[in-house]
Amino acid sequence: MTATTPDSAKHKKAKALKSSSRRPAKELCSECGLCDTYYIHYVKEACAFLNQQIAELEEEAHGRSRHLDNPDDWYFGVNQNMMAARKTEPIEGAQWTGIVSTIAIEMLNRGIVEGVVCVQNTKEDRFQPMPIIARTPEEILAARVNKPTLSPNLSVLEQIEQSGMKRLLVIGVGCQIQALRAVEKQLGLEKLYVLGTPCVDNVTRDGLQKFLDTTSRSPETVVHYEFMQDFRVHFKHEDGSTETVPFFGLKTNQLKDVFAPSCMSCFDYVNSLADLVVGYMGAPFGWQWIVVRNDTGQEMLDLVQNQLETQPVMSKGDRRNAVQQSIPAYDKGVTLPMWAAKLMGVVIERIGPQGLEYARFSIDSHFTRNYLYVKRNHPEKLEEHVPEYAKRIVGQYKLPES
Ligand code: FAD
Repeated sequence: MTATTPDSAKHKKAKALKSSSRRPAKELCSECGLCDTYYIHYVKEACAFLNQQIAELEEEAHGRSRHLDNPDDWYFGVNQNMMAARKTEPIEGAQWTGIVSTIAIEMLNRGIVEGVVCVQNTKEDRFQPMPIIARTPEEILAARVNKPTLSPNLSVLEQIEQSGMKRLLVIGVGCQIQALRAVEKQLGLEKLYVLGTPCVDNVTRDGLQKFLDTTSRSPETVVHYEFMQDFRVHFKHEDGSTETVPFFGLKTNQLKDVFAPSCMSCFDYVNSLADLVVGYMGAPFGWQWIVVRNDTGQEMLDLVQNQLETQPVMSKGDRRNAVQQSIPAYDKGVTLPMWAAKLMGVVIERIGPQGLEYARFSIDSHFTRNYLYVKRNHPEKLEEHVPEYAKRIVGQYKLPES
């Protein structure tokens, strides 16, 4: 159930947790920031890892939950439109072409919202997240590019209520948005807009360092990286150079415990509860992927349509064999020698899944891995925590018995 207590002042008596305190979700905490505020009052209902309620919240946010007889809904969630898009004039330094930052700037400039929750980085560390409520386009621009670390975006929620803001845009990933939707009615807003990105395999700041140290040739100069549709990780360095490492060459045996336990237990890759989702994985290489979930999402997209080049989504190839084979390979921590990994990358890029089928490949690989993780580490949570659509996705594959 969502938190809909009519007495909205109740939560103000609650006390935020100290940063050193153990979180209610324990090791599954994704540090979304809710418990850093008095909204911790609602944590038992709101936390994505204590109370999975995607179907109920979809119903509230979009007017319906996923149609379980439609496999496209299993994968991509409730949607009324999808496309591939890129900015005709990309924003320098954005993660992709900067569609997310552009929408946020337009909403602020046109007075549609008074503030935007987004995440900048600290002065000392480009990957250390620093959530803010941006009130100027400059502050939004300074938040561009992924902070590939768990980020307490909701830690600014108390400031919203205190500021008296009535129209707000929140940018965030799935676990943050699930908790946000659960407390939405308590925020005292007239209108909340939610702009989401897909998210997977996030890490703590220490985990990120281990990933960079084991994978990049120059960990200290990485400014930005992405697992791309060409089956390679692309690292961008300070001097503007790009380094690519094939997925199949990653040192999986060393990286197995690098991802946060919350991300290993997450089944909301595609940010089911945002009004509009901007990612890349359902689009051709170099393009972004847009999923419009409801009329609010369409309204947000319309604001920037004249700055975008678009094309319909496409789907090519068949992911299923590759996913099935990846399940035992991941379990055993298989790493190919670099020459074989590069060769495999070239072959799979030519004949492998593309467009929406690439997105299905990535969702299947992560959901099967995560299902096994929850089954092995939190068996008591398996039934309630895994949404029905995810059970259907995982049910297409043969998994190890234990
Ligand atoms: P920009 O204009 O550069 O804006 C990026 C926005 O993201 C900023 O507003 C910032 O506030 C916000 N942000 C940055 N880091 C975080 C964070 N840690 N938590 C919450 N908000 C944050 N897309 C896919 O299709 N497949 C994936 O597997 C995938 N994995 C991702 C993993 C992570 C950890 C993140 C943060 C995003 C991921 N995305 C994924 C989304 C994708 O990488 C881009 O963020 C998205 O396409 C928007 O690009 P842009 O150029 O429009 O964003």
